[in-house]
Order: sequence, then C-alpha cells, then structure tokens
Amino acid sequence: ARDQSPKQLVVLGAGVIGLTIAYLASAAPDALFRVTIVARDMPEDMESQAWASPFAGANWSPMPMGGTDPRVRRREQVTFDKFWNMIPTGLVKKLPSKIYSKSAGSASELWWHDLVREFRILAREEIPEPYVAGVAFCTVSINPQEYIPWLSSELRARNVEFVRQHVRTLEELRPLVGANGILVNASSLGSRSIVGVEDAKLFPIRGQTVLVQSSQLQEFLALKPDDGAVPDTYIIPRPGRSLADTALLGGTFEVGDWDTSLDMNIAQAIFDRCSELAPSLRNSEQTKILAHNVGLRPAREGGPRLEAEIVQFPLRGENHNLVPWNSTSLEEGRMRVVHAYGFGAAGYQTSWGVAEDVMAIVKGL
Ligand code: FAD
Repeated sequence: ARDQSPKQLVVLGAGVIGLTIAYLASAAPDALFRVTIVARDMPEDMESQAWASPFAGANWSPMPMGGTDPRVRRREQVTFDKFWNMIPTGLVKKLPSKIYSKSAGSASELWWHDLVREFRILAREEIPEPYVAGVAFCTVSINPQEYIPWLSSELRARNVEFVRQHVRTLEELRPLVGANGILVNASSLGSRSIVGVEDAKLFPIRGQTVLVQSSQLQEFLALKPDDGAVPDTYIIPRPGRSLADTALLGGTFEVGDWDTSLDMNIAQAIFDRCSELAPSLRNSEQTKILAHNVGLRPAREGGPRLEAEIVQFPLRGENHNLVPWNSTSLEEGRMRVVHAYGFGAAGYQTSWGVAEDVMAIVKGL
C-alpha cells in the first residue's frame, strides 16, 4: 500500500517566497506535508538587512520579464488576482495608479494592460508638465511590515515549525529532510554561498527608499524612464492597519552593489524626484519622514531559478576540492531539492504564482 503519512517538507528561507510556499503546503486539506521552515532571518527580524522582504514597496507594477517569459507572466497574473481578492482583509490596498513618461511610447508594448484593472491611456490634458505621455490603472499594494507577520502567524496557527539556523551547507539539512522528505530552497542571495548550491549567477540590486506618512498620497505614481528600464522614481502608498497613510518613495536600482549603508545624498535625490511627481510632498506640514531604508533585491542572471534537482552526497561543489566540513559529509545519499530563488524586483508580485508552481513540482516528486 502507498505510504499515506505526511511527507516532511523543509523550506529553507522565511522571506515572502518561503512563507508563501509554506502557506500553500500547509493549507492542503489532505495534509500531505509536515512543514518546517529553517531560516537565518525570521519574520520578526524586520530590521535586518540580510534579507530583502522587509524592504519592498510593495506593489504590483510592470516588470520587463513578465512581458517576455510566459511562465513569469502567469505567476504575475495569479498573484495579482490573489491580492485583488484579499483587498477586503485590509492587508492589501486597492491602488489607483499613474505612470508618466517624458517621451511618447506605444501603448501596444504594454503587455500588462489586461492584467491590471481599469487600464486606460491618459489624454494629453490629464498629463501634468513636464510629462508627455501616461497611463492610468488600478493595482494593489501591500505593507511588508504587516504582511510578513500575517503570513507567519497563519503558519504558526497551523503548527508549522520555525527553526532559526544559518545554513552553511545542504549537508546540515539532511537529518531534518530525511530519506523521504523534500527541501525547498528559498534562500535568495544565500544560495550564492550555501555549499551544494553555490549559484554564482545570483547578484544583488541595491534599493534605497524613503518611508513617509502623508494623507495627500493616495495614488501609485511612477516615472517611466525613456530607455524602458524599471521605473526608479515611484511613490507607493501602502495599506496600514496600525499606521495609516504611509507611502514608500523610491528609489534606486544599483546592480551588483552590496552596500547596505545609507547614502543621504541619494535620499535627498529620491525625495526631490518624487516631489516632482507629487508636489504636496514638499509641504512639511503634510509630510512626515518616517524612515530611510536600504535593501538588496535577490536577482539572478537569466532570471529566477525554479526547478527540481536531486542533490547527491557526498557534495561536490564547483571546485571539487571544496568539500564541506561536516563529519557526515562522506556518507552517500541523495536529497530531493526544489529551488525557488532569484526573484529580484518581483518577489512579492509573483509570490502566489511561484508558490503554486513549486507545489506542482513538489507533488510530482
Ligand atoms: P528574502 O526576503 O531575501 O528571504 C530570504 C530568506 O532566506 C531569509 O529568511 C534569509 O534569512 C534566508 N536565508 C538566506 N541564506 C540563508 C542561510 N545560509 N541559512 C539560513 N537561511 C538563509 N517586490 C515586489 O514584488 N514588488 C515591489 O514593489 C518591490 N519593491 C522592492 C523595493 C525595494 C527597495 C527592494 C529592496 C525590493 C523590492 N521588491 C519588490 C523585491 C522583493 O523584496 C524581493 O523580491 C523579495 O522580498 C524576495 O523574497 P525571498 O523570499 O526570495 O528572499
């Protein structure tokens, strides 16, 4: 007879990706999995710069990859629809939005026009100087400071176990995963150095932002650069159950930069650029500066990695001389691993679609 006892699923990483995967894995009514999360940074570590999730905007906004990769597009759609349905909970904000540009572009290049709600091209007279083109639509935003703790409390209510551990090699997880279990690797930039993964394609994209409070900011506003890159000037109003009317002003997109220290000149430049989009920001009676943030987006050459791998022990790294130090490391064996990392600037806005894809792979293993 087929073994019906729940399988052990170990999720490495407690960022938005790991938590959302654990949410789907533990929601299954048939309880196929016993879920354990192992992570260095936990949902309560919202000040730690060692992970990305506390520092996101976070809204759904168009990213170039969704227009070119159909798998990414599907994940974006699934996640948008999921967030949209969560608006009544107060964890997600329905967000009227405008993206302006300083040069006229073609609306046909906007692959996402039917993914968001209420999309339309702005008429000339609706566009403020110095912009010349623009679109309006409705998107969603979430507040990481509330959303991550919410995911975590849902998981704890389902008896998902959290283990704080800085994992240096996949070897360390063998006893927990066991012979029949599965490891989901959602360790983002950590996968650059974890022995047994050592993915040299991972790199950070530094993002500096300013968190403000202002009742005047009720729209997502962004400036689309002429070169088609991701907007680096944006204002994202967030939902706030405990603190209303906050918005994240961004930002920077510094490829390959690991520096998590604050640059005040950049903060000033962000504030000035955003004030051009929303002049009310300059009114100091209406605008409170709440915090300066720096976070590292976990990006990867060629896009995210979402695939299964059978890892063989003893581990052999890229460099065969670099074998791990554990005493058990020479024991033969295999471990089923599903990798889910490298989501760069779009971890939140693809999270539910990513978790669905991971669960489809996990169930087939
Ligand atoms: P992380 O949040 O980095 O979590 C990784 C987890 O793995 C952590 O728990 C960490 O401790 C753990 N880990 C790593 N290494 C180890 C190890 N060796 N041992 C044990 N545990 C380990 N995304 C959007 O979708 N929309 C936005 O508007 C948006 N805006 C952003 C704005 C800024 C300024 C920044 C910085 C990011 C933004 N993002 C946005 C991107 C988003 O934050 C990331 O894509 C997302 O948080 C990545 O989640 P993750 O779970 O993959 O990784």
